[in-house]
Amino acid sequence: MPEAFVPLTDFVNEAKSIPKEHSLDQPVAKWTEEELLDGEIVEAGVAILRTRGCYWSIKEGCSMCGYFNDTVPGGVSDEMLREQWKKIRPSLKGKRYAKIYTSGSFIDPTEVPLDFADEVMSDMKDMGIEKVLIESLPEFVNPKNFNYTNAPKLEIAIGLESSSSLVLDKCVNKRLRWPHFVKVCKSARDNGAEVKAYILLKPPYLNEKDAIEDAVQSAIDAAPHVDKISINPVNVQKNTVVEKLWMRNEWTAPWLWSVVEVLERCKDLPVRVYSDPTGGGTRRGAHNCYNCNKKILEGLKKHRLGKGDLADLICDCKSRWEVMKRQSSLRRNGSEPHGYRNGFTSGRRF
Ligand SMILES: [Zn+2]
Repeated sequence: MPEAFVPLTDFVNEAKSIPKEHSLDQPVAKWTEEELLDGEIVEAGVAILRTRGCYWSIKEGCSMCGYFNDTVPGGVSDEMLREQWKKIRPSLKGKRYAKIYTSGSFIDPTEVPLDFADEVMSDMKDMGIEKVLIESLPEFVNPKNFNYTNAPKLEIAIGLESSSSLVLDKCVNKRLRWPHFVKVCKSARDNGAEVKAYILLKPPYLNEKDAIEDAVQSAIDAAPHVDKISINPVNVQKNTVVEKLWMRNEWTAPWLWSVVEVLERCKDLPVRVYSDPTGGGTRRGAHNCYNCNKKILEGLKKHRLGKGDLADLICDCKSRWEVMKRQSSLRRNGSEPHGYRNGFTSGRRF
């Protein structure tokens, strides 16, 4: 092994050693957002429970995921989870759609105890909530983990990330295999749940062009097995492998034009494919130039809610993105020159 080689897991373990104070009786966050529910725009209630977090982030972790920054590896007691829920539930009153996230898997019973999950589901059903979105790693998508006594319609969001095992293994550091994904999607749907797939755009080590192709192919592969697909452009989260690469200018977040291209190429798929880029328009998230970031993000929001046409979006920077895509095969990774998107150098120093 060359001296300069540092295994991926060492990066992640180093990042995880950074402590952070957390209030255990408070959720990480809660807010409302517009969302499509059975073709109708509604205001959804969203909350992130603070939990022990994702078991995989404790073991190794994915290259782009900084969710462990919001977790408590020692665990959160049932009592504290119930205190968090007391603070969340008023913001869900009158809502028809709720999204209850953890920074891991809601249906991992070692992260969210089954009794607590059952109470929360029953509470939401009694509040008149029609549908609840939760997230999970594929390995927990087993009916015994979501066999609630009384619950709204369940929508399980699963991070597929990519249908390519090479990308999953080497770029994302996720031990998922395509046949397993197909199997758990069927299991979820056979047991009354809907499935939403997350697909990454531009995990580390992929250039802009390859990243677009990987996301499009993954969406084509996933479409027959899921109910909707969210394209998640990789963003720079704290204490991650991606952040290390980004600081060294070895990877840059994807262009919003790349998001638009993926969505345009997926528009004839039999399921909704949309994107709501985290950190969009910032240097850490998917972005174009200063002049069009806001306009493109508004266009993506309209598209997500079933309005507007992405083909109408234009800006002078699109030609620079085209050049970048053509240059992709000449670059060994996902980097690009400083300030390229804004047409001048940003003055960033390393
Ligand atoms: Zn622009």
